[in-house]
Amino acid sequence: MTSAEFVISAVFPRDFPTDGRPEIALVGRSNVGKSSLINALVRRVVARTSASPGKTRQVNVYRMTPAGGSPFYLMDLPGYGHTSGGKQAQREFGALTALYFGSRTSPGDTRNHSRTRNHSRSDFVSPLCAVVLAVDARHPGLAGDVDACRWLHALGAPFLLVATKADKLSQAEKTKLTQACLQAFGEEPLPVSAVTGSGLDDLWQHLHALTAGS
Ligand code: GDP
Repeated sequence: MTSAEFVISAVFPRDFPTDGRPEIALVGRSNVGKSSLINALVRRVVARTSASPGKTRQVNVYRMTPAGGSPFYLMDLPGYGHTSGGKQAQREFGALTALYFGSRTSPGDTRNHSRTRNHSRSDFVSPLCAVVLAVDARHPGLAGDVDACRWLHALGAPFLLVATKADKLSQAEKTKLTQACLQAFGEEPLPVSAVTGSGLDDLWQHLHALTAGS
């Protein structure tokens, strides 16, 4: 059984983990179902789900200790794409996300990274193992998701596309999903449902593989 605990809602880069444990970043539009997915993955409520989208601007950090797998941090990044908070809020979502990936893709301020301490730039070892982009299975290829995917691909980290709320798809939509995602993102999706639990075992297998040996 996986144990999972909420660590912190990081508001500043100094709040990000510093112990070098592997990290998986979870990215997606507000309301795409990231919190529900986290709770479904660990089979209990550790993440707060939101009735009103776009309220979270922090990076929610969870410490995951899977049975038989390597422990890792799940970094739930601020949801993007909701305009209810206005332009300023949009900039803030983007800013913290950019700061997070910036600190994980180049040494930057090495005081924040135990793994990089006393190491030169070329020795930099990022704790970031993979980026998981969550998109709504009913709406593959939204412009904001395509932009996010392009931006995330450019980071060069291993990438996984997850299609949430798969329980809401009709059989016809299920059949079309893979092709639609390949066309829009150049990636095959892993359909998951926090409601029925479908796809979660597959997702765990991917997470194990991505964090193993880090
Ligand atoms: P977040 O903003 O990405 O964290 O999204 P939430 O997890 O708060 O979910 C947003 C809404 O989608 C909530 O009303 C959830 O109940 C609903 N939801 C999330 N996951 C699923 C799912 O797998 N199936 C269905 N049918 N609804 C879901």
